[in-house]
Parts: sequence; structure tokens; C-alpha cells
Amino acid sequence: MKKYNFNAGPSILPREVIEQTAQACLDFNGIGLSLMEISHRSKDFQPVIDEAEALMKELLDIPEGYSVLFLGGGASLQFCMVPYNYLEKKAAYLNTGTWSKKAIKEAKLFGDVEVVASSADANFTFIPKSYVIPTDADYFHYTSNNTIYGTEIRKDPDSPVPMISDMSSDILSRPVDVSKYVMIYGGAQKNVSMAGVTFVIVKNDSLGKVSRAIPTMLDYRTHIEKGSMFNTPPVVPIYSALMNMRWVKAQGGVKEMERRALERAEILYTEIDRNKLFRGTVEADSRSVMNICFVMNDEYKDLEADFMAFATEHGMVGVKGHRSVGGFRASCYNAMSREGVEALVACMKEFEAKH
Ligand SMILES: *Cc1c(COP(=O)(O)O)cnc(C)c1O
Repeated sequence: MKKYNFNAGPSILPREVIEQTAQACLDFNGIGLSLMEISHRSKDFQPVIDEAEALMKELLDIPEGYSVLFLGGGASLQFCMVPYNYLEKKAAYLNTGTWSKKAIKEAKLFGDVEVVASSADANFTFIPKSYVIPTDADYFHYTSNNTIYGTEIRKDPDSPVPMISDMSSDILSRPVDVSKYVMIYGGAQKNVSMAGVTFVIVKNDSLGKVSRAIPTMLDYRTHIEKGSMFNTPPVVPIYSALMNMRWVKAQGGVKEMERRALERAEILYTEIDRNKLFRGTVEADSRSVMNICFVMNDEYKDLEADFMAFATEHGMVGVKGHRSVGGFRASCYNAMSREGVEALVACMKEFEAKH
């Protein structure tokens, strides 16, 4: 039976990206050695990281004066690297869920944090719309897509102070006006690559403005200067990121990724709204097109486990909701086909007909 991978992360990648990466692990570029057993400084690997940087710049139309880095540590390390490098006195954060809260917790170790708005009281079911970013903040930070709660900010906000975003789960799914940001980061394992690498897009002249001493490994300038090669970078995940970005480009780039994401989301949300058994968990204007969360309507609550089993029998993988929301979550990253979403919808319809 065909399986449809709705995992939230690590998550679906195009089959050819997985095959190309597997091949490079067996025999890289026909050199008779694995990608895993050659120097990251070799003439064979350098072109990989160079092209990965260049493709990220091309796909997101990144202006001059920015660097693209591939680091270790995950998005979670960025929660502390960001304030380490940018927070002198005060930072402004928008609190839209679990990942925002984690970022806020780390920033508080470095200075004052003003939470400009939060939807915590409503279990993060919407994106706060009206808030004021203090003009004396060193930067404003927000999470563009809330992987757990299924809300998304799809339009780049305006900020009177330098803006930073955690785009772990929606990078490469739509065009971004990078010039509005000083820094964008994310773990690659949602929409860019396999787990193990973190992408960082950073405006070079935004750095060096804090007075504290920064440990070498945590200073973005170290990694800019060394082209992500200060120490050994995660070579295999960088290779799969390159294969995946080549795939995105060949499909038509981030505009085409956005078109497909909107199409998938339309199909699934339409069914969630129509089907008598289910309802969405977030306000309509805050809905994510990457992580689509839904639960069983109250009168059908006891069918939840049955639907999980039914969906699993029909090849749906990873649709169980995160424990903080419950119900179901269908993560629809770039590699998810329209057919996959249609198969899930067919499952929902069939299950409805039985009840
Ligand atoms: C998954 C996720 C993270 C955590 O990423 P790690 O690479 O595991 O540290 C942070 N932010 C968002 C929005 C995520 O989806």
C-alpha cells in the first residue's frame, strides 16, 4: 500500500533527494569513496556547500550583503545565539506558541524581553494582529509558522527595529522579502533537508553591535568568515539540502511551492469545514498551510482512536496531533503531493459515511 507521509519533522522529502543522498553515501561523485569518509575541505565537498549557499540565495532572492550559513545545533541553538549576538538591552518577541516560548526563555538570559503580544490564553489558536513593537528594542523576533499549533504568518511583518524570524517549518514554501530581516534561521528537517543542519541567513552589517564577549563558536561572524567551515559542518545533511534545493528550483522555485501549498491547504481545509465529524482548531485567518490541525467535533470525540486506526490502515502516516493540541495534524511540506492530501480527504469522507 502506498504510504503518505504527514510527519511534522523530520518529515517528507522528495524520493529523488533521498536516493541521491543515499547514492552519495555509497559512492560520492564516482570517486569510489563515501561522502561520509572524505574531508569537508576536499575539492570534492567544497562545491557542494558553495552551491547550497548560492541556491538558497537564488531561491529566496536574497539581496547583497547577506550570508547563508549551514551550522549545527538546530533551531534550538539559535534561540540563544540570536540574543547572544543581538541583545544589548531589550528585545521584543511575539509569542505564538511552543517555539516562541522557548526562544523567549533563552533571550531572558541576556536582557529584557518585551512580549509584544501573545495568544497563550487561547491555546495559541490565532496570530495576534495588533501589537506595537517598541522602537527602543534591539530587535523583534517572531516564529513564522507554528508547527505545533498550526498557525502561520504568511506576510512579512513591518518592524521599526531589526527583524529576526524562526522560519524552521515554512522556509522555501513561499517567497520571503529577506531585505526586511537582519536574520532568518531554522532547523532544516522540516522543509529543507534531513535532520542535522541549521540554516542561517544573516545580514553581515547587523552584527558586532553588542558589547559582550561572544564565544567563538556562537559568534555568527566566525561562521561568515569561514564560510560555515570553522569546524566540520554536517556534510551529509548539507548535501541533501543541496539536492532538495535543486529539486525546488527544477519544480519552479518558491512561487510554485507556494502555489502547491495553497492548493493542498484549500483541499484539506475545505473538507475539514465540510465534514460533520471534524473541525479545525485555529481561526480561519491564522491557518497554516504547512501544518493543518483538526480535531473531532465534540459529539464524535470517542471516534478519535477509530479514525486514527482507519487512517493508518489507509496508508496515512504521522497524522496524530501534537499532545498540546490533540486530534490530528497533517503536515504538508513541499514534497507532499496533491494526491496525498486527496487520499487523506477520501479517508475522511469514507469514515464520515460509516458514521
Ligand atoms: C522544529 C522546530 C524548532 C526546533 O528545531 P530543532 O532543529 O529541533 O532545534 C524550532 N522552531 C520551529 C518553528 C520548529 O518547527
